[in-house]
Amino acid sequence: MAIEFSKRVGRTPAYPMSGAQALPEDIVLMASNESPEPPLPQVVAAIQGVLGNANRYPDPTNTKLRRALSDRYDVPANRIAIGAGSCDLLMTAGDVLLEPGAEVVYSWPSFSVYPYLEAATGATGIRVPLNDAHEHDLDAMLAQITVATRLVIVCNPNNPTSTALPLDAITRFIEAVPRHVCILLDEAYCEFNTLDDPDSSVDLLKKHSNLVLLRTFSKIYGLCGLRVGYALCGDPRFVEAVDQVRQPFFCSITAQAAAIEALKHQDVIAERVERTVIARVELESALNDMGIEPAASQANFCWFPLPEDGPTEPEVVKGLVDRGVLIRGGTGQGREGFLRVTYGTPRDNDRFVAALREVLGQ
Ligand SMILES: *Cc1c(COP(=O)(O)O)cnc(C)c1O
Repeated sequence: MAIEFSKRVGRTPAYPMSGAQALPEDIVLMASNESPEPPLPQVVAAIQGVLGNANRYPDPTNTKLRRALSDRYDVPANRIAIGAGSCDLLMTAGDVLLEPGAEVVYSWPSFSVYPYLEAATGATGIRVPLNDAHEHDLDAMLAQITVATRLVIVCNPNNPTSTALPLDAITRFIEAVPRHVCILLDEAYCEFNTLDDPDSSVDLLKKHSNLVLLRTFSKIYGLCGLRVGYALCGDPRFVEAVDQVRQPFFCSITAQAAAIEALKHQDVIAERVERTVIARVELESALNDMGIEPAASQANFCWFPLPEDGPTEPEVVKGLVDRGVLIRGGTGQGREGFLRVTYGTPRDNDRFVAALREVLGQ
């Protein structure tokens, strides 16, 4: 007799792996929207400083980190939730909001983790297609909200398409969503967005108790290997609910220490944004030279269709790997014939451009 697993296992898709771990060391990693820059020496020192306490459990209330975030954003600490990466908070939001008969509305293609929420909870997922500019169609999303809707997710800037909507469009959407529906604004890439001040969405929390801003130390802070993210919430009961259903010690002592230290170096964050914008402009022009029109990126990656008369998506992905460049094909991200490419260092970007030219026969 084989072990009998729950229905949940049967309906849960396999996460599309980048395959980076199995590749030789000299490969350029542009597949997972990571930062190409190693952690700051001060962050490494903060991590080393707590390792000697590893025989003790971490602070389950994450008090120091929540206080640091509270100072940074002027949001009361009781309205800040911490997670082992923001995906932890995302999945836990599903646990506290969804169940069979409930509905979750999100755009598609969007973050590949969202379908796990319905798989994990037995709720119904409603996917609303992006518009022709690869942006969320907020009016179409509003039209899908019913009495059964518990959660609506807006990914801004959107992964995998890199596009962002201006804050005034998001604000009008939030005002139109019924109060019983939790609006989760996934802002994993908000620091890279130059359309609006990344801190301006925080003001919306004062007026909208059903709003949750999901943010992370994985992207601009470059700490994805440590797993720490946070949610700024309109209602302290959201924080209580997610803490109620999770294991208590989800955020390690090293992750807490690193995040607290990283927050102190906002000048470095501003420099990273500048370097990202330079990469964005340079890669866009290199792609344009190849006759490729990427979506309007406000993130640390770009999204573009492959030329129709050229090699297929799997051929291009393989051709790039053979030349030492790992990126993501669009099929695993919900759209065949596209590529998602994370910006690397200037050297990485040059290597990608040269490899793509060769693969496309240009
Ligand atoms: C990378 C990413 C996250 C962050 O994941 P972590 O669990 O914090 O590493 C969240 N949302 C989106 C859309 C992302 O692309």
